Amino acid sequence: MRIGHGYDAHRIEFGKPLVIGAVPIKSDFGLKAHSDGDVLIHALADAILGAAGLRDIGYYFPDSSDETFNMDSKLILKRVLELIIKSGLKLEYADCTLIAQMPKMAPYIEEIRKSLADILNVDYDRINVKATTEEKMGFTGRIEGLSAHAVCILSE
Ligand code: MG
Repeated sequence: MRIGHGYDAHRIEFGKPLVIGAVPIKSDFGLKAHSDGDVLIHALADAILGAAGLRDIGYYFPDSSDETFNMDSKLILKRVLELIIKSGLKLEYADCTLIAQMPKMAPYIEEIRKSLADILNVDYDRINVKATTEEKMGFTGRIEGLSAHAVCILSE
């Protein structure tokens, strides 16, 4: 078994669609990024790469590249899955936490779980998604940005 952790944060950007776990979320703002800014997928992708002993997401999907401009993060996660399969590894479980003062994420959690499980081609009960606020403290609390953590276990 191998364990991995991933973390990501993005600044908010008004007028951009918000996408979390490849699910469109009703919000006045999206996330500023070279890609679509799906902070939860980026944290999860880094956790999986970490568990596989691979480089970080910025190495495989550089924000200087035209190919990754406005990239659908679903494709990032799919390519990360291909990389671990190539390394002879299998995703056993992942637990993700989104940190957002707003919007309220509770109505979307189950849909995000299903979406991530679908992209990663695993059963729904192998992906967990949670959301929390930071009680109005720090950059997420001031609604300057959103962040996400993820941990995962891969088996050989
Ligand atoms: Mg990111």
